[in-house]
Amino acid sequence: MSTVHVVARIRPLLNDETENNIIVKAEGNVVSIPNPRNKDEIFKFPFNAVHGMEADQAAMFSEVSPALKHLFAGNDVQVFAYGVTGTGKTHTMRGGKQAAQRGIIPRLLHAIFRRKKELEKKSGGETKVSVVMTYFEIYNDKVFDLFSPTSKRTPAGLPVRECDKKTIVVGLTEKAVSSPAEFEELYDKANDNRSTSATKLNAHSSRSHAITCVKVIIEGKEGTKAGTVSAIDLAGSEDNRRTANDKERMLESQSINRSLFVLAQCVDAIAKKQSRIPFRDSKMTRILSLGQNNCKTIMILNLAPTVAYHLDTISSLNFANRAK
Ligand code: ADP
Ligand code: MG
Repeated sequence: MSTVHVVARIRPLLNDETENNIIVKAEGNVVSIPNPRNKDEIFKFPFNAVHGMEADQAAMFSEVSPALKHLFAGNDVQVFAYGVTGTGKTHTMRGGKQAAQRGIIPRLLHAIFRRKKELEKKSGGETKVSVVMTYFEIYNDKVFDLFSPTSKRTPAGLPVRECDKKTIVVGLTEKAVSSPAEFEELYDKANDNRSTSATKLNAHSSRSHAITCVKVIIEGKEGTKAGTVSAIDLAGSEDNRRTANDKERMLESQSINRSLFVLAQCVDAIAKKQSRIPFRDSKMTRILSLGQNNCKTIMILNLAPTVAYHLDTISSLNFANRAK
């Protein structure tokens, strides 16, 4: 049975933000925020877990690590970071280079390799675990491979096809990874590649969904099983009506709105245990086969604490609140 776990994270104050501008608070498993129209009224949004400004990267990973068992049983796990640009999605998913600052994705890889070692050792060599990764982004509904050099990108992106009832991205680079060090080298290179490429690409990084998929294949005496964990740093969820002022922006906004809308519907359907999950309605959810294969979905809702984000924070909270 597929399930959803929704976790809110309020990031700390940044340079120019001050204590007296804080309006978002963590109270147990509830996020509280004033009604923008009537400051005396406080809205309360309950979640499966809420992490306040002091939460570190390890605390966030603790929301994901229980799902590793599920992954090693041959099922899928999906972790989304949802929120407005500047609220900490990339920090939560990727994080910094120092060990304590590592985000969910590198922590996942470290944990997967630890478990691989344990399993292989325990079985006396009977069990073999292999790890294969893809890393791509979806921008304007087109798929671009982040493991392939920017110069090789075609404007149309990679084709997406149905094959044996599965959705596949044709031509996506699959990298076999055998250690955390190897992962880090690959991942850093792909990320550098992404941020130092043409400014145009740089500008769109908050307008695209960045998707890391890690497939874990376990071959043992009883046969082979495989599960995939996907981590998705979503495009910024800011009110795209306000930012759509030229044709290209409009196109971006439409595709972001559409994919986030479908994502919300899928997550809602999974949470309500409905049999029909509309995962085919957007390219992202289709590629992820969202809600299929007995998956566990973890939705991280990234929030900024200050009044500058008031309306966007309310709409983020409303989005995530449906998913329980
Ligand atoms: P997003 O990806 O949602 O646009 P970022 O992850 O880039 O947001 O975060 C915006 C800024 O805030 C970055 O400078 C980032 O380092 C900082 N930041 C976000 N979350 C935290 C956190 N929990 N602790 C420290 N700094 C953070
Ligand atoms: Mg980001």
